[in-house]
Amino acid sequence: MLMRVTFLGTGTSQGVPMIACDCAVCASPDPRNKRLRPSIYVETASGTCFVVDTTPDFRTQCLVNNLRRVDAVVITHAHADHIFGLDDLRRFNQIQRGVIPIYASADSMESLRRIFGYAFAAEDSLRQGWAAVEPHILDGSPFQIGSATLQPFAVPHGKTTTLGFLVADKDGSRFAYITDVKEVPPPVETLVRGVPLLILGALRHTPHPAHMTVAEAVQTVKHVQPMCAYFVHMTHELDYKETNQRLPLNTRLAHDGLRLELSATGVQEV
Ligand SMILES: [Zn+2]
Ligand SMILES: [Zn+2]
Ligand SMILES: [Zn+2]
Repeated sequence: MLMRVTFLGTGTSQGVPMIACDCAVCASPDPRNKRLRPSIYVETASGTCFVVDTTPDFRTQCLVNNLRRVDAVVITHAHADHIFGLDDLRRFNQIQRGVIPIYASADSMESLRRIFGYAFAAEDSLRQGWAAVEPHILDGSPFQIGSATLQPFAVPHGKTTTLGFLVADKDGSRFAYITDVKEVPPPVETLVRGVPLLILGALRHTPHPAHMTVAEAVQTVKHVQPMCAYFVHMTHELDYKETNQRLPLNTRLAHDGLRLELSATGVQEV
């Protein structure tokens, strides 16, 4: 089995369409202009599945993509658009009859405990039928989910930081996921340079203090030199077709439901 990445959501915090907006992208009939909050689902070569972030759209994303398992949860940071669907993990606790490991920075875990305290009582949470997670604090060391090794790294995101991840499976396939990022610092650039697949946050054209613009993200792709790059976390400023036409050949906007298969030699849309 090859490692697979499914884009559960490619939108910014408000999603696209945005509530009460009549702009051309929000009104567009193109399904690739409909963006739920940002998250990916990863199936490793060993069949273990994990989700990166549990967005406010997590339930919808599970239904639309027919997700049947979540063996682990990885959290980039504790902003609302990345964590507020955590409660819907309870269904997977029920199906899998177990507590689900969750990996986050110490700061993010503290926020998760404050908001979803009831999910941290392990077997008791499970018995009550609540969401039940087993916390694993990320201190910068690599960790294992199934056959995949994840190397976390911190990147600046306005007043806070986000964890990005370099994911490597046992067959040599690799990708990097960096959402909610203002810039990729040189040591991270060195770490991910030449990775076959780079998934990168690119908010819009207008500058933002905590996110990269499309132009900044294109510059970052040039430095990192991946085989291919997909942008995520987009606002309604970016029309899928029109924006893609102006991007370099190896770079595209991702869209909800897009699925990629990775091998040691490349990346393929499936
Ligand atoms: Zn976000
Ligand atoms: Zn709009
Ligand atoms: Zn954020």
